[in-house]
Amino acid sequence: MTYDIAIIGAGIVGAACAASLSREGMSVALIEAKGIATGTTAAGMGHIVVMDDSEAQFALSDLSQKLWNEMATRLPTDCEYEHCGTIWVAADEQEMAEVRRKHAFYSARGLTSEVLDEKALHDAEPNLREGLAGGLLVTGDSVVYQLKATSYLIEDAKPAKVISGRKVTNVASDGVWLETNEKIRAKYIVNAAGIGAASLSPELKIIKRKGHLVITDRYPGFVSHQLIELGYLKSAHGKDSDSVAFNAQPRSTGQILLGSSRQFGIDDAGVDRELLRRMTSRAFEYMPRLRELSAVRTWTGFRPATPDNLPYIGRIGDSNVFAAAGHEGLGITTSLGTAELITDEILGRDSRIDRTPYSPNREVAAH
Ligand SMILES: Cc1cc2nc3c(=O)[nH]c(=O)nc-3n(C[C@H](O)[C@H](O)[C@H](O)COP(=O)(O)OP(=O)(O)OC[C@H]3O[C@@H](n4cnc5c(N)ncnc54)[C@H](O)[C@@H]3O)c2cc1C
Repeated sequence: MTYDIAIIGAGIVGAACAASLSREGMSVALIEAKGIATGTTAAGMGHIVVMDDSEAQFALSDLSQKLWNEMATRLPTDCEYEHCGTIWVAADEQEMAEVRRKHAFYSARGLTSEVLDEKALHDAEPNLREGLAGGLLVTGDSVVYQLKATSYLIEDAKPAKVISGRKVTNVASDGVWLETNEKIRAKYIVNAAGIGAASLSPELKIIKRKGHLVITDRYPGFVSHQLIELGYLKSAHGKDSDSVAFNAQPRSTGQILLGSSRQFGIDDAGVDRELLRRMTSRAFEYMPRLRELSAVRTWTGFRPATPDNLPYIGRIGDSNVFAAAGHEGLGITTSLGTAELITDEILGRDSRIDRTPYSPNREVAAH
């Protein structure tokens, strides 16, 4: 049989593409080397956040957040979708200038946010240390348990075939080859293989960017919003050295998820104790009482990073292979927008946002 679509990778991006393409009546084969949501998706934080670091990142994350909100009413409760909002925390007056710039950026694009002074920040999050200058509350952001959301997307898709535990070794013009030498025939192929995408489509410049996370025991009410220090963007965009930034997420279980770190050039998935110490020290600077809480688990994951911090979404050259990969630290958020753009392009439709900034054929400098 020839499927309409073969999707490589059952992380959240592949799952979202499967759901979107199936909804249009296409027959989808979803092929996963290991297990559903066992790659980077298993390691992420599940923050659904609209970013303002470039117009293209804003457009994709804003579209995606709207799609998450539409889907939220259908999501099972175990997906733990919570509208907790984000507070970007400003340590000093210099960072307050950034708060005002961000506020103006979001307001100009119709997104609600509120500038918090020192007292308002303290009232919103009493466990933050005294003396922080303020922050920006972005009310529309949310949190999801991305593993369950990925499973939900696949159930929603009802793909014609799910092949799990078999790696794609080669992409051909009329399908993909599996390591077992079977061929899955398809009219179009979507490469959603995350950090594995570039080995199948060498045009894509994707490298691994390691991150650490810690989860605490249950402390309901200790943190109410997703909290991120304003220095986070410097950490997310810096290319040269290892970086850490304060990032705390309230889970509906009462647990607190703490991040985050970024490291290039590391293949070892083990926990780096010294980096973890730096990361938690940074968190204690912002929230000293975190020291009193028990951590129950620490883990790492590899973000699929591109040189210009934008994902690859769309047809590669004039082939019938489409890229849906390279979402770095924003792929939980942007999975749904990515799926919509891929579906539009395959169906020859215009999209709600300009697709060109994400084209896999764009010029990007090497890493
Ligand atoms: C520490 C950390 C925190 C994060 N926090 C957030 C956050 O708060 N919000 C947010 O939006 N994003 C966050 N992210 C980013 C997000 O997790 C990723 O961008 C996203 O999970 C990428 O999804 P994916 O489907 O592209 O990749 P993956 O989940 O890695 O899925 C790709 C799949 O393809 C499979 N595969 C690979 N090669 C092959 C092959 N040859 N054949 C068959 N299958 C193959 C893999 O096994 C894998 O399951 C975070 C990431 C990390 C590491």
